[in-house]
Amino acid sequence: MNANILTACILISPCYLILIIKVGQVFSKCKTIIIAHFQYKYEDKVMARIVILGAGIGGVPMAYEMQEMVGKDHEVISISDSPTFHFVPSNPWIPPKWRKPEDLKVELAPVMKKKGIEFIQKAATKVDPENNQIEMADGSVVAYDFLIIATGPRLAFDEVPGLGPEGYTSSVCHVDHAEIASRDWDEFMEDPGPIVIGAVQGASCFGPAYEYMMILETELRKRKIRDQVPITFVTSEPYIGHLGLGGVGDTKGMLESALREKTINWVTNAKVDKIEDGMMYVTEVDENSEDKKKHELPFKHSMMLPAFTGIDAVRNSGAEGLTNPRGFVLVDKYQRNPTFNNVYSVGVCVALPPVEKTPVPVGTPKTGYMIESMVTATAHNIKDQLAGKEPSDIPSLSALCLADLGDTGVAFLAVPQIPPRNTTWSNHGRWVHVAKIGFEKYFMRKIRKGISEPFYERMMLKIMGVVRLK
Ligand SMILES: Cc1cc2nc3c(=O)[nH]c(=O)nc-3n(C[C@H](O)[C@H](O)[C@H](O)COP(=O)(O)OP(=O)(O)OC[C@H]3O[C@@H](n4cnc5c(N)ncnc54)[C@H](O)[C@@H]3O)c2cc1C
Repeated sequence: MNANILTACILISPCYLILIIKVGQVFSKCKTIIIAHFQYKYEDKVMARIVILGAGIGGVPMAYEMQEMVGKDHEVISISDSPTFHFVPSNPWIPPKWRKPEDLKVELAPVMKKKGIEFIQKAATKVDPENNQIEMADGSVVAYDFLIIATGPRLAFDEVPGLGPEGYTSSVCHVDHAEIASRDWDEFMEDPGPIVIGAVQGASCFGPAYEYMMILETELRKRKIRDQVPITFVTSEPYIGHLGLGGVGDTKGMLESALREKTINWVTNAKVDKIEDGMMYVTEVDENSEDKKKHELPFKHSMMLPAFTGIDAVRNSGAEGLTNPRGFVLVDKYQRNPTFNNVYSVGVCVALPPVEKTPVPVGTPKTGYMIESMVTATAHNIKDQLAGKEPSDIPSLSALCLADLGDTGVAFLAVPQIPPRNTTWSNHGRWVHVAKIGFEKYFMRKIRKGISEPFYERMMLKIMGVVRLK
């Protein structure tokens, strides 16, 4: 009997052993599957990397608003080639020393850290949306799940011979250029003469040209030397006050009147052929774009706004469908690229068609409030995509602008910015100059404090009928 039991045990035990091993293997497999499942869930939740490339007027509020939208569930990363934010709209105040460059800068690393946003201070050399990554100048690579391109413009000085700080004209497009222009202005004050200011063919940003000219005009009057300085405004716009927008309200009448009052001459429908030291060669065209008149305009100081393109890292990406031929990022009505559905874009780098055909090509400006509306729509739409929904928020693309004219100013509201519009309004007066100073302080405070749109701002603008989302 014992021998039988023993024999049975000897025969059965390997089967048990095999069974135990098999059960163990199945359990281990299940454990791996369960752990992997939870790990996937966990990673899926915390590991979405939302990268914002560019930290200017669009990029910094974008990082703040995105971070507020997703909290700690996802990573928000801000990349900029500059350690500081720059308040670009106040650059025209730098040359006559109404502002120092440092007044317009905010150190980004500490404020981003406080907001829980990773800040990478490096220049991007190539956006690679086919591989969801950005190549950086130091050879490193930043991977992303969502990318928001907010890189502003490349200043296409190379399109007109002699244009820009490396040629013979000053620039206020970047704070560093404005600092150089400030030194040019000091030299000019020692030996004043004619001034030529404006915007060349293909430009899309006209407001700062009017502002800079009127700021200098005010400064010359204050110094009692205006009588020594003939001023000419040269612009690709078809008429004064067009602003790349087909005019807003009565900007044509108001700006023409301001120029007449200040005895400033102008040339519209102007193409700048070339610029030499102290001389600008301009062709004025008629409404059929045929040459009408040649102008040779001598100058002792000049600032001409250039045309813009997308920055090299974006326009040379080689990715079909990312940009238009000028390197501006293509977006649908949700600010999302139609080809790469995890790529969004906000700010001057976005492709917008011209408002209308003009004898000399002009672009559509992308102004501050319009950019803020792109920012809010993008933050909402990425949040929706993270939740597995389709984007549904559309930016209002409204323009609310304050153009400083030295001691007075012109304000306008266009809802939406691109015609036909539901609301157009314009006004002028000293209050605009004061409001522009107030706005600069307010915006800089928001950047320092890490706020995008506080509720009181939202409420106030809502009362005026201005909202960020349609
Ligand atoms: C002189 C001037 C005055 C203006 N005044 C007004 C105004 O009064 N009101 C108004 O509504 N609009 C104004 N505008 C228009 C518009 O509001 C500004 O141009 C605004 O700065 C655009 O914001 P942005 O974020 O698109 O670009 P930017 O503010 O230029 O920001 C671009 C960012 O991208 C970064 N970047 C660029 N290349 C790289 C790279 N390769 N790698 C990493 N980072 C990179 C830059 O460092 C910067 O941080 C003005 C424009 C100019 C030029």
